Amino acid sequence: MKALVWHGKQDIRCDTVPDPEIEDAKDAIIKVTSCAICGSDLHLFHNMIPAMKPGDVVGHEMMGEVVETGSSVTKLKKGDRIVVPFTINCDECEQCKRGNYSVCERSNRNKDLAAKVFGHTTAGLFGYTHLTGGYQGGQAEYLRVPFADATHIKVPDSLTDEQVLFLGDIFPTGWQAAVQCDIQPTDTVAIWGCGPVGQMTIRSAILLGAKQVVAIDRLPDRLSMAAAAGAITINVDEENAVERLNELTGGKGPEKCIDAVGMEAHASSTVDSMYDRVKQATMAVNDRVHVLREMIYVCRPAGILSIPGVYGGLADKIPLGQLMNKGLTVRAGQTHVRRWTDDLLRRIEEGQIDPSFVITHTASLEEGPGMYRVFEQKQDSCIKVVLKP
Ligand SMILES: [Zn+2]
Ligand SMILES: [Zn+2]
Repeated sequence: MKALVWHGKQDIRCDTVPDPEIEDAKDAIIKVTSCAICGSDLHLFHNMIPAMKPGDVVGHEMMGEVVETGSSVTKLKKGDRIVVPFTINCDECEQCKRGNYSVCERSNRNKDLAAKVFGHTTAGLFGYTHLTGGYQGGQAEYLRVPFADATHIKVPDSLTDEQVLFLGDIFPTGWQAAVQCDIQPTDTVAIWGCGPVGQMTIRSAILLGAKQVVAIDRLPDRLSMAAAAGAITINVDEENAVERLNELTGGKGPEKCIDAVGMEAHASSTVDSMYDRVKQATMAVNDRVHVLREMIYVCRPAGILSIPGVYGGLADKIPLGQLMNKGLTVRAGQTHVRRWTDDLLRRIEEGQIDPSFVITHTASLEEGPGMYRVFEQKQDSCIKVVLKP
């Protein structure tokens, strides 16, 4: 089959690789009908996250039709149309039973490696390094789905691929980011980063009834999309985010702050950003945390910080004194995808939201490597790419 394969820094190719096979009685195989490039795939593209190996198939946002099931799969049959959550979950361990799917205790095949790095294992993820199990990804013609009875979202034929595809990642990711802010009708919610996850977060915060939602970015196309949803926008190339946020909140600061940027924060003109870039270039730290510092600084005391943005490891110069003295709560995490998807599928069916609004580009799998560049460089007003294998 054809698949997008990681070969090294900024080197993703469309190769021919062996078709996946049933390896365990709990597996299913799907024929992928649509998949997407996620913002966090760019961290792999830039080789910012360790434990990728040349030959790994990438991609963790995908859906398709079941073509084969293992002998113990009971909830799926050939022909079923499913979205695959990027977090692989078993449904049987203590964490899965509590709905904490992204920290499933069983689905990571490289538990020991993950435990060494994080202190404990986290769930297996598709197409996202050997730290999370080394599972092949879904930017491919076919995909093996482990723990298939648990790891799937069945979708109705009445909805298009484009309407439901993002249930596997960016929609529940944006939703969880907003939900963990515990949004009140009096809240100002500030969201740094208006990429695909940021866009879903903005719409989620509005659906959850925030008083005002403020979207912060430096790309006019992304800010226009945010404004179309009803957000107030701040272009950091033109104005100071902290000053404007204080102005919008009568000097009090936003009650809730969301980092939808993660480890590769731009803002290269500030002193702290230049410091991060130097330390990252010399491998002294993984992550650039300019956005986190700004959030801690501007957030209203006793507020909540939510971090859906991906970080890889050690960061430097986190203002712990401000965090502690202001009494801020920090909530982070990979998305517990299936915890949210019944509700979100219902909201799509009821027409409360159509997540396909975010798609700017559709291409074939062969065009995938080129689309990584278009997405990375934000050429041609690119916000979200869907690939059709
Ligand atoms: Zn993702
Ligand atoms: Zn589990």
